[in-house]
Amino acid sequence: IMQLEDLKWAGDCMGVIESKINECLQEFEIDSIQLKRIADVFCQEIERGLKKEKSSFKMLKSYLQLPNGEEKGHYLALDFGGTNLRILLIALLGQGRFKVIKKVTAPLITESYNYITNNVCAEELFDFIAELIRKVTDDEYRYFLGHTFSFPSEQSALNHARLIVWTKEFAVQGVEGKDVNALLSDALIRKGRSNIIPVAVINDTVATILAAAYKDDCVHIGSICGTGHNTAYLESYDGKRCPMIINLESGNFSHLRLNTFDKILDQQSEKKGEQVFEKMVAGKYLGRLLVLVLKELGMLKQEIVLTSKDLSEIIQDSSPNYRKTKEIFFAQIEDTFTEMEYSYIVEIAKRIIRRSARLVTAGYIGIIQHMDFNFNNKHHIAIDGSLYEKMPGYAQLIQKTFVELLGDEKAKNIKVILENQGSGIGGAIAAAIFNEGRLDSDR
Ligand code: BGC
Ligand code: MG
Repeated sequence: IMQLEDLKWAGDCMGVIESKINECLQEFEIDSIQLKRIADVFCQEIERGLKKEKSSFKMLKSYLQLPNGEEKGHYLALDFGGTNLRILLIALLGQGRFKVIKKVTAPLITESYNYITNNVCAEELFDFIAELIRKVTDDEYRYFLGHTFSFPSEQSALNHARLIVWTKEFAVQGVEGKDVNALLSDALIRKGRSNIIPVAVINDTVATILAAAYKDDCVHIGSICGTGHNTAYLESYDGKRCPMIINLESGNFSHLRLNTFDKILDQQSEKKGEQVFEKMVAGKYLGRLLVLVLKELGMLKQEIVLTSKDLSEIIQDSSPNYRKTKEIFFAQIEDTFTEMEYSYIVEIAKRIIRRSARLVTAGYIGIIQHMDFNFNNKHHIAIDGSLYEKMPGYAQLIQKTFVELLGDEKAKNIKVILENQGSGIGGAIAAAIFNEGRLDSDR
C-alpha cells in the first residue's frame, strides 16, 4: 500500500511538473501573427529613425557605399568582436579577389586575463590590441588599418567613430563616448608603431555587406547572428544618390513582449533595458535563458554557465542516454537528472533557439518592407556569426520562417548567404576605400 501511495504521489508531481514545463515552453512561442506585427513595427521604427524621430534604432551612418571590387593593395584588418580579437594582413587583388596573407587570433578572456570586465581601463585594452598588431607587422612598412569594431559607434567620418555604449556585457571603463580610432592610434604610438595608421572604423554588419558584395550583386542586408545580433542595410534615401550602408543597431529593438525569463535576464545584465531584442536572440544570452528556465522549474539549484556551443550539443542529444547533455551539466554540478528531465532540457533549449531564429527573420522582413514594400526585387542577406553558422537547424529555421510569413512567391526573392570572412575582408576593403579617397560625404 505504501508503494502504491508513493507512486500516486510521484504521478501527481509529474503532472504538476509537466504542466509547468508546458507553461515555460509556451512562453517561448511566437506565432505568425505576432511575428508579422514585429516586422511591421521594425519597418516603422526604421522610418521614424530616418526622420530623426524617436526610434529604438540608432541608424548609424557608415559613410560607405558598396565597394566596386577594384580595391587593390595590402591592408591590415582588425576584427574586434565580442569574444576574440583578430588581426589580418590582406591583399586585395581587384575583380573582387583577395588573399589573406597573415592572421593571428587572441581571445578577450583567458584564465590569466580578462579584457571585457570593468577592472580593465581603455589604455590597457588598446595596448593589448596594439601589442597584437605589433606581432604581425614590420617596422619598415607603412600600413593602413581598417578596424571592424562590433559595437554601436556614432561616426562623423569613416575614421572617426565614437563608441555610444558597450553591448554584449562589455564593461571596460573609459571607452564609452570616446573616439575608438584615436584610442587605437594613441596605443600604437605608445607601442612605437606609428607606421600603422588606422583609417577606417566600421561595424561588423557593415563589414559583412562589404565582403559579401564581392561575391554577390544582390546583397542589400548584412547581419550578425553570433555572440551579438545586429543588422545593416543599404539606405537609398531620396533614391537619387547612391545608397549608403546604415547600421541599424537592431539589437536594441524594444517593442517586444518579454517573458518571465527575459525580464530576469535583463535585470541581471550589465545594461538594463538596453539591447532588448539582442538579449532574446543572441548567442551570448541563449544559454542563460535555459539556466533561468531550469531554475524556475526547480531543476537547478546552483548557478551554472551554458554557452551557445553547449546548446548546440544539447539540442542534438537524444534518449535514452543524453550523453552530451549529461557531460555538460556534470562538468559544473554534482546532480544528474532523470531521463525525462533530460528530455525537458533538450526541448526547452530547442524552443529558445527556435524563438531566436523566428524573431531574427521577422526583423529582416521588416527591413525589406522598408526597402521594397511588395518584395518585387531580389534581396540577399549576408549573415555572419557562430549562431547562424554553427547552431544545428538555425539557418533552416530562418528559411522556413520566411516562407511561413511571406508565402512561397515573395520568399523566392529572398536569399540568405553565409559570409564568414566579413569582419576581416570588410575591414580591408574599408581601409582601401579610404586610401583611394572614395569617401561618401555627409548628408
Ligand atoms: C553590437 C553591434 C554588433 C553586434 C554583432 C551588438 O552587441 O551592438 O554593433 O554589430 O553585436 O556583433
Ligand atoms: Mg565577429
